[in-house]
Amino acid sequence: MGGGRVDWGSMQDSDVAMMLRRAGHKVTPQRMMIIRALRTARGHVTAGQIADDVRRHFPAVDLSTVYRTLDVLKRMRVVTAIDVGTGDSMFEWSDKEPHHHLVCTSCDSIENLDHHYLEDMGARLKAELGFEPNLDHFAIFGLCRECQMDGCNGHEA
Ligand SMILES: [Zn+2]
Ligand SMILES: [Zn+2]
Repeated sequence: MGGGRVDWGSMQDSDVAMMLRRAGHKVTPQRMMIIRALRTARGHVTAGQIADDVRRHFPAVDLSTVYRTLDVLKRMRVVTAIDVGTGDSMFEWSDKEPHHHLVCTSCDSIENLDHHYLEDMGARLKAELGFEPNLDHFAIFGLCRECQMDGCNGHEA
């Protein structure tokens, strides 16, 4: 058979493929497309959005394949999931600094929160309670500044 390695277009993708193999997982073209869809997404995507993206190349791919792959990637800690209250988990490639989100329950706005806020809390939980929290990607629910201002005449004491 004529050689020629599979070229996924960039080094990083082949690194991911190697990680998958090392962890004992199969590397299929569909899986690599799922990984690519995640990596090229801006911000968070749902499994459904990933499936739509992958179907442009592999029309037969189903949602359960996407979920299974996301599960594997989550366990390898290269993908983080977050529940922002929409009912659908959002996924994000996480080869960068951890970050978190402030989710407004009134207007559904989502703001990024720097990791250092939770890093401090995590360190205290470990030191004071002996608990090692998993603070990869966190959603904190509340009211954004604008919505608090809208609501301040609605006070009842
Ligand atoms: Zn995020
Ligand atoms: Zn708001």
